[in-house]
Amino acid sequence: MMGDLPSVTTVAEAAERIRGQVLRTPLVPLAALGEILGQSLLAKPEYLQPTGSFKLRGAANALLSLPAGVPGVVCASTGNHGRAVAYMARRLGLACTVCLSSLVPENKRRAVAAQGARVRGIGRSQDEAEVEARRLAAEKGLALIPPFDHPDVIAGQGTAGLEIAADCPDVARVLVPLSGGGLIAGVALAVKARCPGAEVVGVTMARGAAMQASLVAGRPVEVEEQESLADSLGGGIGLDNRFTFALVRRLVDRVVLVSEAEIAEALRRLYRLEQIVCEGGAAVGVAALLGGYLPPVEGPSVLLLSGRNIDMDLHRRLMVEDAREAA
Ligand SMILES: *Cc1c(COP(=O)(O)O)cnc(C)c1O
Repeated sequence: MMGDLPSVTTVAEAAERIRGQVLRTPLVPLAALGEILGQSLLAKPEYLQPTGSFKLRGAANALLSLPAGVPGVVCASTGNHGRAVAYMARRLGLACTVCLSSLVPENKRRAVAAQGARVRGIGRSQDEAEVEARRLAAEKGLALIPPFDHPDVIAGQGTAGLEIAADCPDVARVLVPLSGGGLIAGVALAVKARCPGAEVVGVTMARGAAMQASLVAGRPVEVEEQESLADSLGGGIGLDNRFTFALVRRLVDRVVLVSEAEIAEALRRLYRLEQIVCEGGAAVGVAALLGGYLPPVEGPSVLLLSGRNIDMDLHRRLMVEDAREAA
């Protein structure tokens, strides 16, 4: 059954539970970017996780919290959650099915399959894949592992926030990529409890920003899903959202929207200035700073770099465009 309501306590319990299963990532200075922006910047390199994204934290906590005797797990995903669930399921010897819509890039589809999961290609949106995952769970008695709106998933993602608070107690601002809000809800629970003065900022792409539209409307609303460089930030928050919407509304100080051009530029700056390859969804925090959307703060800012599972041909093309512009 569902775990306790998400709180800093459940996040701390998750940290105990997943120790040894996920990487305890450090904070590393982004010196060159910080110099350009005139701020002290630190990266939380979650792209270093064994599945290339922070999603392993939530997946590990959720799967390790399952009751004994579950015949298998099922999930819908924009790619990274599915890969993380498949990785953990394999470790625990559980059968795993991952429902992926046609918006999921091929490199991510392959990575899920490579973990030994059954891949079910279904629908043209994350929401359609979600419907299929629920159907399979009900039909086959599988445990449904939601990508964000689940107490165990939120608590698992929040362990990154506990680490930020421990490693940088005077953090002034945390920039977190935002889609369904599982990551930022968990991180904000931890950061606001341990470093109450810190600002927590969500950043997402302007193209299909479901959480932002929902915050404005005061209730979960649907937005049209579109292709984006930040493919891992696609999908709605669920009209029946139970946890992340309320947590984001309560704990997140502000949400910034960035354009596709700004995401591309952020990927280039990360690569050229910091030698970091990450995916579009991870670069939105850098895009928000470069775009001048946020006033400077006193004290260090932490940028959570959430994943690196970008199609490397796409990445190369984006870097080459840069060279052409510079010429
Ligand atoms: C899933 C994901 C996010 C967004 O996380 P939510 O919990 O849905 O807000 C951000 N970046 C990457 C790389 C992701 O895979």
